[in-house]
Amino acid sequence: MVDSTPDSGFATRLKAIRERIDLAARSAGRNPVDIRLLPVTKTVESARLREAVAAGCRRLGENKVQEAARKHHELSDLDIEWAVIGHLQTNKARNVAAFATEFQALDSLRLAEALDRRLQAAGRGMVVLVQVNTSGEASKSGVAPGETLDLLRALRPFSSLRVNGLMTLAARSEDEESVRRCFRLLRELRDRGRDESLVGDGELSMGMSGDFEAAVEEGATCVRIGTALFGVRALPTK
Ligand SMILES: *Cc1c(COP(=O)(O)O)cnc(C)c1O
Repeated sequence: MVDSTPDSGFATRLKAIRERIDLAARSAGRNPVDIRLLPVTKTVESARLREAVAAGCRRLGENKVQEAARKHHELSDLDIEWAVIGHLQTNKARNVAAFATEFQALDSLRLAEALDRRLQAAGRGMVVLVQVNTSGEASKSGVAPGETLDLLRALRPFSSLRVNGLMTLAARSEDEESVRRCFRLLRELRDRGRDESLVGDGELSMGMSGDFEAAVEEGATCVRIGTALFGVRALPTK
């Protein structure tokens, strides 16, 4: 069958990335089914996302809530679950609580309170991951590693938030060892959270287009892939 869709390469790229994930998993003695691939669709227009959905992607990741909400609206005829993966200001909690299935960038108690209030009002629950600043880079958001356990403990009372693990962006570095150090730190924090039953399934969302294989080897259960699937983004985004 000849595939003449404008982005017929998408399914091919998706398959190739999935194969690389599976290979990295097996080489680390892990089961590939334990790792989910979250396509990151920021700056990608809705028309192209239809092709991603047609290729089998069901949950999509966006880092900005306004853009995610717009696409949620534009693609409301499709059965898509939205994961918001970028820093959120407290005054935008309502926007996320209205439609997101998952929020991966929880980094303060104040934001948790705002989200819980909005979710309770909407009668919804949401999966959340706590974002940790494992690299210590000032440009990155996330709770400090040393404060992660305290934040996780403080999240226990919020019944609408299903805290299910941790998320990080590794150091922006050519040096693979400093990248891996971030991944390992996240895993150690997850293990400590697990000892106190604070992290649900213990998800580790780590690894992007440039470093996902190392992340899988270090234990990632979710890799967030943008450019390797959709091509280089036209606009600079965080
Ligand atoms: C953009 C983004 C990604 C994906 O980055 P790529 O390098 O394009 O794969 C992953 N996580 C977050 C939080 C992002 O903002």
